[in-house]
Amino acid sequence: LANSALAAAQASSLNAFLHIDPELTLGQARAADAMLAAGNAPPLCGIPIAHKDVFVTQGWRTTAASKMLADYTSPYDAAVVHRLMQAGAVSIGKLNCDEFAMGSGNENSAFGPVKNPWNPNFVPGGSSGGSAAAVAAGLVAAATGTDTGGSVRQPAALCGVSGIKPTYGTVSRFGMVAFGSSLDQAGPIARHAKDLLELLDVMSGFDERDSTSLETCDGVANASGRIRADFNTALQQQTTSLPLAGLRIGVPKEFFNAGLASDVAQAIEAALQVFESLGAKRVTISLPRTELSIPAYYVIAPAEASSNLQRYDGVRYGHRAAQYGDLAEMTSRSRSEGFGPEVLRRIMVGTYVLSHGYYDAYYLQAQRVRRMIANDFQSAFAEHCDVIMGPVTPTVAKPIGVNRDNPTADWLADIYTLGISLAGLPAMSIPCGLGGTARDLPIGLQIIGNYFSEGQLLAIADRFQ
Ligand code: GLN
Repeated sequence: LANSALAAAQASSLNAFLHIDPELTLGQARAADAMLAAGNAPPLCGIPIAHKDVFVTQGWRTTAASKMLADYTSPYDAAVVHRLMQAGAVSIGKLNCDEFAMGSGNENSAFGPVKNPWNPNFVPGGSSGGSAAAVAAGLVAAATGTDTGGSVRQPAALCGVSGIKPTYGTVSRFGMVAFGSSLDQAGPIARHAKDLLELLDVMSGFDERDSTSLETCDGVANASGRIRADFNTALQQQTTSLPLAGLRIGVPKEFFNAGLASDVAQAIEAALQVFESLGAKRVTISLPRTELSIPAYYVIAPAEASSNLQRYDGVRYGHRAAQYGDLAEMTSRSRSEGFGPEVLRRIMVGTYVLSHGYYDAYYLQAQRVRRMIANDFQSAFAEHCDVIMGPVTPTVAKPIGVNRDNPTADWLADIYTLGISLAGLPAMSIPCGLGGTARDLPIGLQIIGNYFSEGQLLAIADRFQ
């Protein structure tokens, strides 16, 4: 398996992989063989996976798709990488993404865009674009991604595969290159909800090295046990004549706004009808601050990014300018050379909204809006519905290069994913149809649940798939 996945990854022209090292991969594969031979194979023994290049790895470089870290190799493995390795998964390499996970089309990588396997002239979505493309193209069985404001769900949707962002705090951020720490959460991308269950089961769990890792998550046994148990319970509850009888699906009217393309709207409608035919009940709900999630997120995420990215100062690690006068110039030159335009833009925005005199007007206001958005979701779950469904993206994948001169156009397309991230809720994307002029581009259905409802979401998705 490892050999054929390596060969496929090396032959691929999608630009999904940034670093491949056959020796490292085959070392892991031999270890998996030994475990198999010894008769104590762990759950993912020998399964070919790959990691988004924001998870640090011993051996393979970790660049976060930035020139800043072009030559960086970590002395340790991220928690997610370690857990998957312990479970026997074999890593085929590191996957392309938007620089520091900032973007939604994978066009902000310093190492070139990733091509959508369905049509190479189109973006795969981002920021975990390499992850979704590698799974969609069948190069690996599954991949890791990270989602700060949609980066697991969007590429999964645009590449026709499945992805889940768990409740914030479920998966350890230890060893994940930081973007917006109060939002960053890792999640798996694979073909089917059942695969996601296997992966999330391994990836999740309390980690004292991440200060926002949830202890409750480890609960009686561990987080992973909880997700699997909830999945099984949710499936068992679905044994009446109509498997999803009584499930109340909230459909936010704000998600069906003027910006939603008609092919996406039709595919979502068709999916909702399938759920109704399985016994679910559709309830129209309101998430009145949906539009405000864009300005709130694009204040908070850049603010946290500007702080997190201060560590790239040209001194400790990362790119250092070849020529400079004094220390200050060394840092400023290293940073302007190492960071790409979108990252610099976010640092400028973030520094501005945190600065004296603007902090109250922007950052504090955004935090208030964030709380209101989270409350809107809580009222919906308390009063109206069990889960929420809607689109992931307003349109199918766009052609590569389209918004090059208009970066904030991409920001607006995050409207259906940002609120969930601001609230820290779990959400997933599953394929639900094709759209675009040639009807060859995938569309994703978003399923959103209350905190710790991953198992239920996966069981509902499993019924649909
Ligand atoms: N598109 C959003 C952004 O650019 C979200 C990215 C992400 O989730 N990493 O910030």
